[in-house]
Amino acid sequence: MYKRQHPAASIGISIYPDDGNSAEDLIRHADIAMYSAKAAGSNQWAFFKEQMTERAAVRLRTEASLHDALKNNEFVLFFQPKLDINTNKVIGCEALIRWQKDGRIISPMSFIPVAEETGIIIPIGRWVIEQTCKTLRDWQKKYNYAIPIAVNVASQQFADASLVPDIKQLALRYQIRPELLEIEITETSLMNDIEQAIAKLEQLKSAGFGIAVDDFGTGYSSLSYLRHLPITTMKIDRAFVSDLPHDSAIASTILMLGRQLNLSIVAEGIENEEQLNWLRENDCPIGQGFFYSKPLPLDEFEN
Ligand code: C2E
Ligand code: MG
Ligand code: MG
Repeated sequence: MYKRQHPAASIGISIYPDDGNSAEDLIRHADIAMYSAKAAGSNQWAFFKEQMTERAAVRLRTEASLHDALKNNEFVLFFQPKLDINTNKVIGCEALIRWQKDGRIISPMSFIPVAEETGIIIPIGRWVIEQTCKTLRDWQKKYNYAIPIAVNVASQQFADASLVPDIKQLALRYQIRPELLEIEITETSLMNDIEQAIAKLEQLKSAGFGIAVDDFGTGYSSLSYLRHLPITTMKIDRAFVSDLPHDSAIASTILMLGRQLNLSIVAEGIENEEQLNWLRENDCPIGQGFFYSKPLPLDEFEN
């Protein structure tokens, strides 16, 4: 009924003899060009260029070291608090992955896309969920109290059949109350296959987990599907919060929509008092952003 699948294709082109003399070389170069087309967004095509080889090499190197990173425990979660805008109380947090490599901290923006392209996002994503469950169990033990943690789930991870059973199994193993674990999914991943998305979200929601739509407003969603998605929270993308207070049309609209649909709303990326004031005056209940706190390592966050 709500099927809105949009198959997309990416095409890479190599030309004989400029781009290679053998079939192997031509195919390899067309493949590299195809990745470049894909990186430019779906439904693109690209001719092979020599510079693309460098990108492909970087991708291969990153992929190889991502495998090692998992084995060697180089990933770590940072936590950014979410606050009740009216009371200034911390009511939850978001777990954000970091890669500690050779003493440097690498941002997810530079390795999550590669992890998605290569499929290694599945074990990484599983690690994030397990680590989050462990943290919740530790808080419960240490403080006899825990606040909800939201984890980000990548598109491909959401499409994977093992996601829902994995989450249920981990929550059970670490004895987590499901309402303490919230899954954040981008609007774009939900739109890939709406029927599948609804089925999966139903399972998660009926098991008691929270479900947030991340980066709301940046995808190409039709509004009519929204009310059929069993979500609990909408996160207003940082881009619209940074426009506040001068350009508030989109933030107002999202707030109104969220209220109509009875959803909890989180404003992402609050960086200053003016933005916060606008959000408070416009009854946005929850906020997250550098103005409150940057994402912090676990011990600092606990403090
Ligand atoms: P996101 O889920 O939308 O997370 C919010 C991002 O905005 C975080 O960047 C956070 O540090 C940043 N941020 C928060 N407040 C502010 C602010 O006031 N100003 C600015 N300029 N930025 C702010 P981060 O940690 O670099 O993560 C970037 C993206 O990487 C995340 O966006 C998410 O899509 C992805 N990501 C992070 N951790 C994971 C993970 O464990 N799994 C997956 N699949 N993706 C992840
Ligand atoms: Mg998020
Ligand atoms: Mg976001």
